[in-house]
Amino acid sequence: MIVIKTARELRQMQDACKLSARALRLAGEAVEPGVSTYEIDTLVRKYIEEQGATPSFLGYGGFPASACISVNNVVIHGIPSKKTILKAGDIVSIDVGAYLNGYHGDNAYTFKCGDISKEAQALLDATKESLFEGIKMAVAGNRVGDISAAVQQYTEARSYSVVRDFVGHGVGAKLHEEPSVPNFGTPHRGARLIPGMTLAIEPMINMGSHQVEVLDDEWTVVTVDGSLSAHFEHTIAITGDGPIIMTLPD
Ligand code: MG
Repeated sequence: MIVIKTARELRQMQDACKLSARALRLAGEAVEPGVSTYEIDTLVRKYIEEQGATPSFLGYGGFPASACISVNNVVIHGIPSKKTILKAGDIVSIDVGAYLNGYHGDNAYTFKCGDISKEAQALLDATKESLFEGIKMAVAGNRVGDISAAVQQYTEARSYSVVRDFVGHGVGAKLHEEPSVPNFGTPHRGARLIPGMTLAIEPMINMGSHQVEVLDDEWTVVTVDGSLSAHFEHTIAITGDGPIIMTLPD
């Protein structure tokens, strides 16, 4: 079942989304050579809890941290660790959610650590832009497949590949709601977009093959070929006046 939110409920959800965005910005500011992903996770957790909210991911399905921090060939669900020390040239995908006033916000961004290669920068630029290509199609009357196809077409035209095994999702009172929002698909297919729907659109784009695998820790998702992967995500609302990005910090 797809949950439709009233204007009042969307306003309520806005607080969780803004908080998520601020936590993500804070996390990004901490990305620099020599910092462990554990330290960044601790900052995120403290910040969200100080605001009277709960980190959405902490304990979700048993996830042991507040942020997913995925470096280089790690696609998503990287577990923060004191042993994972960032170095110049890394790309660092951070995914953060916060639960406040009965709603979740969910967003992600791939940050660069120091100077990165031209190739890595191009991957980040294309993945970020593909998110906005998807958001442009998040218009009432369109279908989920219009978002999916926009992301896929934009990235594949640049010879990148779209992760199949993990997808975006509805988000609201629950972190994961219907519908699924794949980053690949066919225009005019899938659920109809209706004002009051809230979606987490989140392209996960690989420089090499689309294939991924889950490591023995049962969380960390990596590219099978070891290629770099980037991940950008916003929570958006479908409205009569076009999409609203809910996860903006200000
Ligand atoms: Mg998400």
